[in-house]
Amino acid sequence: MDGPKVPPAPASPLEQYLQRLYDKFARLEDGQVATYIPELGRARASWFGIAIATVDGRVYDVGNSQVPFTIQSISKPLVYGLALESCGVKGVLKKVGVEPSGEAFNSISLDPHTGRPLNPMINAGAIATTSLVPGTDPGSRWTQLLDTFSAFAGRSLGMDESVYISERDTGHRNRAIAHLLRNFGILEANPEEPLDLYFRQCSVSVTCRDLAVMAACLANGGVNPVTGRRVLEPRNTGRVLSVMTSCGMYDYSGEWIYSVGLPAKSGVAGGILAVLPGQFGIGVFSPPLDERGNSVRGVQVCEAISREL
Ligand code: GLU
Repeated sequence: MDGPKVPPAPASPLEQYLQRLYDKFARLEDGQVATYIPELGRARASWFGIAIATVDGRVYDVGNSQVPFTIQSISKPLVYGLALESCGVKGVLKKVGVEPSGEAFNSISLDPHTGRPLNPMINAGAIATTSLVPGTDPGSRWTQLLDTFSAFAGRSLGMDESVYISERDTGHRNRAIAHLLRNFGILEANPEEPLDLYFRQCSVSVTCRDLAVMAACLANGGVNPVTGRRVLEPRNTGRVLSVMTSCGMYDYSGEWIYSVGLPAKSGVAGGILAVLPGQFGIGVFSPPLDERGNSVRGVQVCEAISREL
């Protein structure tokens, strides 16, 4: 026999707020799902999830917050943090600068004399950063990278094999960039190795709830507020937040600082990770992108949160 029905717990004010954001922006139908690699084109335009993780370890989410998608360029700040931890700021600055490029993610923005990429958020800088992931061989570097991402998310993450294969087999421009970096001595060994690791890091599968927890680690000085584990030193957390602030949103970065002001990073699968330092992390997922490659609904949600909270 069934017992008396327990009524569902009333939604907290933050959950109600997220639901209002969801209802408001779910109606937006602008933007295009990325198709530059065939696998990404399979995403549904209607998928939409929002999550917030607070620095005291609470997570709130609405919509398709459990649908997995690939992290893509949102991997870049995490790997930048890993490189800082293992090589120190001087070692990293030798290979990649911290100047905003104001250009598209796949631009070939290298210093004309040294070949050093302008910043770690464009592909050239990200591939250079990936070459600094510590390990004795490709397998151990991949394990180190995936373990780091998992520590940020507070759960064990994996890779979307078919997106990885798609990236690897069609990434001719990234391959060209990696070989150019080798030509300048920014990459010091076989460029195919960090390139393969870069394709893998872009293909790590996450949910927008994961992005919110990852962002909350950055909001919380480098400690995952859900697991209590330190994932990044405080000084490196500040450095990661700085490059996200100035370079995180592709060629929309300048306007983004002006109108939203939150350190953030977007990816072409439709994710955005944004940080309100000391308060909470935000993860948004919605595949249709604007012409700069940022999630249309994601940008609106972040703008609204920054304005209203
Ligand atoms: N894997 C993508 C590339 O390098 C990342 C694109 C992105 O999210 O900006 O082409």
